[in-house]
Amino acid sequence: MKVLITGGAGFIGSHLAERYLELGHKVYVIDDLSTGRTENISHLQQSEKYDGRFFFTHDTIFNDKVLLDLVGICDLVVHLAAAVGVEYILNNPLSSLKTNIGGTEKILELCHRFQKKVLLASTSEVYGNQTHAPLKETDGCTYGPSTKARWSYAASKLLDEFMALGYHRTEGLPVVIVRFFNTVGPKQTGRYGMVIPRLVDQALKGETLTVYGDGSQSRTFTHVKDVVEALVQLLETPEAEGEVVNIGGVEETSILNLAQRIIKKTDSKSKINLIPYDVAFSKDFEDMQRRVPSTEKLNSLTGFRTSIKLDEILNDVIEDRRSNLSRKLKDQA
Ligand code: UDP
Repeated sequence: MKVLITGGAGFIGSHLAERYLELGHKVYVIDDLSTGRTENISHLQQSEKYDGRFFFTHDTIFNDKVLLDLVGICDLVVHLAAAVGVEYILNNPLSSLKTNIGGTEKILELCHRFQKKVLLASTSEVYGNQTHAPLKETDGCTYGPSTKARWSYAASKLLDEFMALGYHRTEGLPVVIVRFFNTVGPKQTGRYGMVIPRLVDQALKGETLTVYGDGSQSRTFTHVKDVVEALVQLLETPEAEGEVVNIGGVEETSILNLAQRIIKKTDSKSKINLIPYDVAFSKDFEDMQRRVPSTEKLNSLTGFRTSIKLDEILNDVIEDRRSNLSRKLKDQA
């Protein structure tokens, strides 16, 4: 099978590309490297194992000719190209909206034209400021005012979901929609705000850990290995077509507790600094107090459950960030 992964040089995309290569498929990646990185895929380009089966196009999904060719030759499209990371979105509100809405519309239109199955990556952000747990795919979505940029991301991804469901219901397009909860693992950087790589880097460098608010806000975290397995299985499940499915972890932790665990695990002397939201971001920022997924639908569709515990996730990220930092230090020497 030939799989096209938009945003395939990104964190989740590059792991998925590797998995599909391991499974014996041909993988085509298109990425504009706005947040994706060549380091994420260079091992795939160089490996003899994947010789003649991995193809990278450095371009945006707004290049009609390139996209037309790629969608035309592939059997399956995994659409991961999107603006990601709370900080990235707050700093680039307009381009994020354009990528998330215009980019998805283009992909869906082309997949419809060529009748190709497509997976649309959505996000737990679409639930908005709901605090009950667990969040089910059938739950409503509630947002704050449009002046708070965070909700624009949630609203743009919700619109993507409506568009994908529209194509499925009116045109019969085989589409699977997934809502990623906080996904973590090797190769993720803290550059765009993601809390675990950022706090791990701070702990390893002996810097103060920046915990926003009072640290009582909570999340569950999913290992990228679990996420990739869930994606592969959902795409092999015909019953998942036309469905919206959460992919998330089950172990809820507060961010303050997370910071404490990271300090302990890294044996760091770092302290924790509680930073008020209006200092960390702007007064227009609104955090989500709690976000815990129901994973029943994923399980009932595929039989798969995410199982990698926070402890193992932290070990993997610490090892990855440690080798990243020592590589950087060697390069500087
Ligand atoms: N966070 C934090 N310090 C940081 C980065 C993030 O306390 O340096 C908090 C953030 O306010 C949120 C949680 O960690 O409550 C998860 O943030 P992230 O950006 O990783 O994902 P989100 O769930 O907000 O999309």
